[in-house]
Amino acid sequence: MTKIFNADLHCHSVVSDGTLTPELLAQRAAVNGVELWALTDHDEIGGQHRAAAAAKANGMRYLTGTEISVTFAGETVHIVGLGFDPDDAQLCQGLHDTRHGRGPRAMEMSDQLAKVGIHGAYEGALKYVGNPELISRTHFARFLVETGICKDTAEVFRKYLTDGKPGFVPHRWAALGDAVRWITQAGGAAVVAHPGRYKFTANEEYALFTEFKAHGGVGVEVVTGSHSPAEFVEYASLAKELGLVASRGSDFHSPDESHTDLGKLPFLSDELTPVWETLANRIQ
Ligand code: AMP
Ligand code: MN
Ligand code: MN
Ligand code: MN
Repeated sequence: MTKIFNADLHCHSVVSDGTLTPELLAQRAAVNGVELWALTDHDEIGGQHRAAAAAKANGMRYLTGTEISVTFAGETVHIVGLGFDPDDAQLCQGLHDTRHGRGPRAMEMSDQLAKVGIHGAYEGALKYVGNPELISRTHFARFLVETGICKDTAEVFRKYLTDGKPGFVPHRWAALGDAVRWITQAGGAAVVAHPGRYKFTANEEYALFTEFKAHGGVGVEVVTGSHSPAEFVEYASLAKELGLVASRGSDFHSPDESHTDLGKLPFLSDELTPVWETLANRIQ
């Protein structure tokens, strides 16, 4: 196989909190020059067979993908899984259990928002949900933009949906070791998503990567839509220091909301080992 540069291994469809179908995402990725693609819906792999077929129809190679919500040191951390067997029973059960609880959490979010005068948020968010098992904060954010309470989803998160704000409901997600094991034992590679986004001290971040590696995690997202150019450099150094492979992904959700399009980020620098080189036998 010729060397792949334009891999985009992180994005979301209507199967989680994106606004495009797997087919439309695949088309958009291909038009943007993506050579190797992965759809990584939150806690869900229901779109994998469609995404793989759409990748093929659009002349791209494909890796299976998901982004698992994990609670570590009281914070939510996301672990991207790539190249796993989508029919693996343990992985499917683990994701199913992780999705469980989103419904009650959403109703509680709605109750909290009602206390600050925002009514009908649960029903409002549901209108944006493509997968009933996957109601997320993003769907609430779309409803609050629709009603004119906020001008965009970033403002909704800032004012209502982050820790300490009126609509934020703490939630316990999967354990780090479990998420890494589900992915790894299904033949895939586990990657820490957008590490620059977590509010960890240097010690906590070190603990995250130490535990992640101890459980069998192998990679870190270096180039992602959530990182600044300075963070591309920072996490490239971290990958080399810790002996982790590197990943690249836009984290694209929607043409209207995402500032980073599929396939448009800088390439990984030469001195890093791309995660897809270690998954050569898993590429479809
Ligand atoms: P949930 O899994 O329900 O907690 O929702 C998490 C999702 O909310 C993330 O995957 C993002 O798509 C979105 N999100 C989180 N923080 C922000 C933010 N500050 N601005 C816009 N979207 C955000
Ligand atoms: Mn999301
Ligand atoms: Mn994420
Ligand atoms: Mn994501």
